Amino acid sequence: MKTTRLNKRLINLVARASEDYNLLEAGDRVLVALSGGKDSYALMVLLEQIRRKAPFDFELIACNLDQNQPGFEQHVIVDWCEKNGFAHHMLNRDTYSVVLEKTPAGKAYCSLCSRMRRGILYDAAVDLGCTKIALGHHRDDVVETLLLNLFYSGQIKAMPPRLTSDDGRNVVIRPLVYLDEATIQEFADEQQFPILPCNLCGSQDGLQRVAIKRLLADLNARNPKVKGNLFAALSNVRPSHLYDRDLWELAGISGLDTHGTDLSVP
Ligand code: SF4
Repeated sequence: MKTTRLNKRLINLVARASEDYNLLEAGDRVLVALSGGKDSYALMVLLEQIRRKAPFDFELIACNLDQNQPGFEQHVIVDWCEKNGFAHHMLNRDTYSVVLEKTPAGKAYCSLCSRMRRGILYDAAVDLGCTKIALGHHRDDVVETLLLNLFYSGQIKAMPPRLTSDDGRNVVIRPLVYLDEATIQEFADEQQFPILPCNLCGSQDGLQRVAIKRLLADLNARNPKVKGNLFAALSNVRPSHLYDRDLWELAGISGLDTHGTDLSVP
């Protein structure tokens, strides 16, 4: 595998994310979710390049789930892993028919599809004795999720770089969060990854995420710093300028020792 200038830049960004959020640690056995999309191939390659030079030992296992989508060619991923000497574990579950059956007309398939896939990967990670699951979400995914939650859920939250699942069984890491999608695309073209497109959601249009993508592309065309600023805002939170009482308490902001006097009119 060629190590170009672009490749080195991406390795350094992944290494910095790992350092900032303690993503890779000695003794880790990391299940790398390899969907066949450009982000997941980039994730696998960059993590492997870091692993080879890291001052501590950790293992990587590529894991792909064949969801029985028509035309999905899992053997392409197996061949690519074997060609590159990557340990891999292939899964096969028919989530495709369930997603088609259960998703109401006009709604996005991705929400149920990704929830089912996540459950299967979480179980596989436990079965394989993995300490972490690496996902290929990048900076654009993070800011899109931030806006989706703001606009449609009334919450300020995004995709964290590291998260322990609610039941405590899994730790999810996102080593690509400092990379933007366009640069990953450039890397994927350069490395000629054998991309397997998702046919299930490809024809759905007008969905919330697509709308957010368009909004961001439009804003970014006028000011190329927009996405970077949104991402930077996630590490520059001012609890005193927000309305979350729990956050005020955590931040030790005074004035919340008691509730205010009831001033409502009876
Ligand atoms: S892109 Fe395709 S595979 Fe991925 S969550 Fe959406 S429907 Fe599922």
